[in-house]
Amino acid sequence: QDSSELSGIIEDSCCDYETVNSINAEVLNPILEQLVTTSFFRYFKVKLWCDCPFWLDDGMCMLRDCSDTVDRTLDTKTFRGWIAVDNPWTNDDETDNDEMTYVNLLLNPERYTGYTGASARRIWDAIYMDNSPKQPSGESCQEEKVLYKLISGLHSSISIHIAADYLLDVKTNQWGENLQVMYDRVLRYPDRVKNLYFTYLFVLRALTKASDYLEQAEYDSGDHAEDLKAQSLMRQLLKNPKLQDACPLPFDEAKLWQGKNGPELKQQIQKQFRNISSLMDCVGCEKCRLWGKLQVFGLGAALNILFSVEDIHNKAQPLQLHRNEVIALVNLLNKLSESIRIVNEKASSVERLMDGL
Ligand code: FAD
Repeated sequence: QDSSELSGIIEDSCCDYETVNSINAEVLNPILEQLVTTSFFRYFKVKLWCDCPFWLDDGMCMLRDCSDTVDRTLDTKTFRGWIAVDNPWTNDDETDNDEMTYVNLLLNPERYTGYTGASARRIWDAIYMDNSPKQPSGESCQEEKVLYKLISGLHSSISIHIAADYLLDVKTNQWGENLQVMYDRVLRYPDRVKNLYFTYLFVLRALTKASDYLEQAEYDSGDHAEDLKAQSLMRQLLKNPKLQDACPLPFDEAKLWQGKNGPELKQQIQKQFRNISSLMDCVGCEKCRLWGKLQVFGLGAALNILFSVEDIHNKAQPLQLHRNEVIALVNLLNKLSESIRIVNEKASSVERLMDGL
């Protein structure tokens, strides 16, 4: 089976590939693409200073082999804070201080940067090796598999974005899609594509689970018309009848942590994910660090929604998200949604192209 032939029910979900492809292309992707351009959703607060707690030895963080550094140009819109509550899944300190920058994501698209080699490799290796421990039997339990698939799915999405917006010719500064890279890194591995769908549905489930909260949240950027637009698009996304009919439960989180070691396992996996979040401080190219941090932060928000809040309607433990978490969650879902659309559009032609070689 190659990536262009994926069909049937997606693992751990009640939705099938065909339905997800059509809902994504017709409904979710168009809404998300608009939502991320609104004033509220286009600014992400981030500490871009490279503060790597690992590998202090070689200054990889200061690598300047990348063609891109982050454009910090802001327009006049202010960033109005929400309350800051700690997320046990991530390692970021959200307190405002001099090291925090507000980045306009629209000016800094995720794409090829030239970041490669030992530094990039070491981070992916650390993420996969340190954070996918096996049971003594050699088997991974279901919760560990979920963590692995989330990371692998995110990795696929990053690779798809690199391939979709690639520097094809350095001399003429020509940018475009690189189908060979897309095939070599993702499409030739059906598991990597499956994990992309898994991560997408996981994040989508988190968003819909938090829908009451997100519908009532204050999208205040200081531009009233823009904020009304953000609120209306958010409502269209969360209460979409097509989505509710065709894929009502994108991921069933209730099946996890049920074994007798559930609470300890949750703590262990939480620690592993915090470790992944710290590794983002070691990414040696600034723009990659921006998107790496944003997307891991968004995954942390999804994990928090699905697994830390026992019952969203329980007054004793109400769901609370940072403004920055909501921004990360929506931008992450948009990136995953773009990747699904690109895979769906390109898979057959890429397979044909590679068959012809
Ligand atoms: P890599 O993508 O580095 O993969 C390393 C190894 O991981 C592979 O050999 C394979 O064994 C395994 N692997 C690959 N994909 C998967 C998967 N989906 N699931 C499971 N295992 C897998 N570069 C940019 O140009 N732009 C960016 O925005 C960017 N962002 C980055 C963000 C982060 C957090 C990191 C760590 C790196 C980023 N990079 C970025 C670098 C980029 O991801 C690659 O590391 C680099 O392009 C070199 O690619 P590669 O072909 O050596 O394989």
